[in-house]
Amino acid sequence: MGFFYSEKEGDTLRVGIPRTLYFFTFYPLWKSFFDVLEVDVVLSPPSNKVLLDAGVRETVNDACVPIKLFHGHAAALKEKADFLFMPRLVSLDGKATLCPKFLGLPDMVRYSIAGLPEIIENRLDMKKGKLELYRFLYRIGQRFTDNKIKIFQAIRKARYNFSRYRKLLLRGLTPQEAFQVLDGKKETAEAGSSEFPIKLAVLGYPYLLYDDYVSVGLLDILKEHGVRVATPEMVPGEGFKSLSKKMPKNLFWFYSNRVVWAGQYYLRDSDIDGIIHVTAFACGPDSMTNKLLELETKYCERKVPFLTVTLDEHTGEAGVRTRIEAFVDLIKRKKGLA
Ligand code: SF4
Repeated sequence: MGFFYSEKEGDTLRVGIPRTLYFFTFYPLWKSFFDVLEVDVVLSPPSNKVLLDAGVRETVNDACVPIKLFHGHAAALKEKADFLFMPRLVSLDGKATLCPKFLGLPDMVRYSIAGLPEIIENRLDMKKGKLELYRFLYRIGQRFTDNKIKIFQAIRKARYNFSRYRKLLLRGLTPQEAFQVLDGKKETAEAGSSEFPIKLAVLGYPYLLYDDYVSVGLLDILKEHGVRVATPEMVPGEGFKSLSKKMPKNLFWFYSNRVVWAGQYYLRDSDIDGIIHVTAFACGPDSMTNKLLELETKYCERKVPFLTVTLDEHTGEAGVRTRIEAFVDLIKRKKGLA
């Protein structure tokens, strides 16, 4: 049974974690924490049509596709877990908040889907100080044990594996590849081949970029066409920090800021041949994020080619593939490669 892929059903308590949204940011933290507490983690299946259709049925029409999909993942865990892990993430960097749909997620799910197990919806708000992550995890740990030492050990292990995970992402691994490295199923390796002649920044929220079903395999399509990919997860923390200070004004939303800062970072990288913004239809924050990126690429000194790919529940692979191929051809021609 793999460390990061265990889906066993046993006598111990089971916590269900939806394999979407903040899963791509935090899974190694949550998984390591619950493992030390001897709580089984049950994951929903990778995103697929059945989950998305269920999510579309269960939630409001005007929600974005990641939120619809989240409902499908939550419904899939209904009979499989004693608890659903759905923390209310308010602020992760102590400054910006998450989008309002994240803030209301536990309530949306609870009132949309009947018969769910108890929801663990502890609030994480890093605006309350640097120790807030410890307090947050400690409060969750107290649900499962009154052994304080065990909870502290769980927090320490969780932080350790989370830090390893982030380093792997920085080196260019996708979350799925990083999970396999942490699981011991894959050797640590650098992602992509530096011999590929084109390098594109692919910007977007991790739950769009790294969910192969929602993104219709966009990252793989790019690799098939000999493109090296750079994402916001590959920007070093110091890069974000200095760029956030240079912006005349930052956005209100955590993930949107990361996308805009990553755009700024890659615009300064002469190795980057173009930028693709992957956005979700009906995403409020992205209406601003997308416009900002478009204007930055248009008016920067070296005029970087820019493409927006909008995803919704009807997006098909053929449409995305055609647009990506046209964009890559344009860049090849610009570089004299075609
Ligand atoms: S940021 Fe956009 S895509 Fe993400 S949950 Fe909010 S509305 Fe949906």
